[in-house]
Amino acid sequence: MSAIYERVALIGLGLIAGSMGLRMKRDGLAREIVGTARSAETRAVATELGLCDRVTETAAEAVAGADLVVLCVPVGAMEAVAAEIGPHLAPGTTVSDVGSVKGAVITAVAPHLPDGVHFVPAHPLAGTEHSGPRSGFPELFDNRWCLLTPVGDVPEATDRLARLWRAMGSNVETMDPDHHDRVLAVVSHAPHLIAYTMVGVADDLRRVTESEVIQYSATGFRDFTRIAASDPTMWRDVFLSNKDATLEILGRFTEELFALQRAIRTGDGDLLHDYFTRTRAIRRGIIEAGQDTDRANFGRGDAP
Ligand code: NAP
Repeated sequence: MSAIYERVALIGLGLIAGSMGLRMKRDGLAREIVGTARSAETRAVATELGLCDRVTETAAEAVAGADLVVLCVPVGAMEAVAAEIGPHLAPGTTVSDVGSVKGAVITAVAPHLPDGVHFVPAHPLAGTEHSGPRSGFPELFDNRWCLLTPVGDVPEATDRLARLWRAMGSNVETMDPDHHDRVLAVVSHAPHLIAYTMVGVADDLRRVTESEVIQYSATGFRDFTRIAASDPTMWRDVFLSNKDATLEILGRFTEELFALQRAIRTGDGDLLHDYFTRTRAIRRGIIEAGQDTDRANFGRGDAP
């Protein structure tokens, strides 16, 4: 495939950037891929694994001459990175990111971008519970969605970025950032918080039941522990920056939980059966859409 960009700069070299670098290199999607990370250790690993063609010490060096810059750091670090690179961005450059929240990233990053720079935030709905430069693999985005939330009227920059994500294996959709954040609160952010909570509850119980929680964790609990093993920094930032939407969904979740709790207490089997029939249909719909984990991503992990 011919190159879509001349020079792509990846800022942050963890799971997502590493997977992008490996995929773009494998398929020749950029003539040059430059990367940087804050720690010397990550930069050394990225060089060793060949995640990009060239690794620089600073973000300012990485973005020089790039026609696409992608911020691949935790959501809470986006503003500082944008402030650092802003003065070094040339007009015509497209800046994007891969953050799991869009509204807060736009508020944090946009003020630092000079006139003439196109801002097309993105969120690949692909990930695993692993993080760091050694965790990336080129197939991560295959058959996953990537959601773009362009800022302003930037159709050409948006189309070009969409081409890159499609070439990396994703299905692409464009949407409004607030809508994105509400949808993700339902499908990803609230479920992660519930998994964290459930594992926390089990950890408390473990003190009572000794090793039983681990011994019998092959049941549904094991999936919770995998989700709850996701990167603590990333998820702290997700909840703090998608506060309103997540709290709204958690409020609804609590109401439903109370309703089910009451049904159990009062022995309302019909309510429970109807409820579980409805949820089972949702699962079937996900499988039919090809978005269940095992088929969509080789069983390697969850969407974020
Ligand atoms: P990751 O593997 O933990 O890598 C994060 C990278 O950001 C590392 O290179 C790290 O540098 C750098 N970094 C961390 N804190 C920083 C700071 N304060 N200032 C500058 N650089 C910093 O993370 P990831 O999973 O690739 O996630 C990156 C972004 O993608 C996040 O915004 C996340 O919301 C989003 N995302 C993640 C997933 C997922 O499932 N993991 C899915 C979709 C989107 P060092 O290594 O040098 O510390």
